Amino acid sequence: MCGAAALGTQLAHRFKSDGARPEVAALAARLGVEIVSRDAPPPAQPRLRSEYQPEPPRIILYRAPIDSLAEAASADPRFEIERGELDELHVAHELYHHLERVGHAERMSLVETETAAHAFARELLGLTFDPRDLPAARR
Ligand SMILES: [Zn+2]
Repeated sequence: MCGAAALGTQLAHRFKSDGARPEVAALAARLGVEIVSRDAPPPAQPRLRSEYQPEPPRIILYRAPIDSLAEAASADPRFEIERGELDELHVAHELYHHLERVGHAERMSLVETETAAHAFARELLGLTFDPRDLPAARR
């Protein structure tokens, strides 16, 4: 495991009490991060499934691209993930970006940050696969 992935994994452990998976929406609320859903992503980024906006802290889920991912993932037996978990996966990933911004994680390069965010989400949810392997995953 590379340094960035290890860092994301370690940070996830801090939010799992007794190794139990937290309720991701509740965790976001506790951290003061609002979750909103929109149908379509900005026209310039048609494949964007979620994003984090710092002021005020907010995670935006884009329904249409998440729905097409859900369809593609359900057709592939490697990905054991329910529709609701897919939302949680995106929220968990963006939560890492929030945690980094508020100083829970050291600043890294963009590529390393993405690696850490994926590792954080994977560990928090206890996924059996790497989120980056999902069809057309955003890096
Ligand atoms: Zn990211």
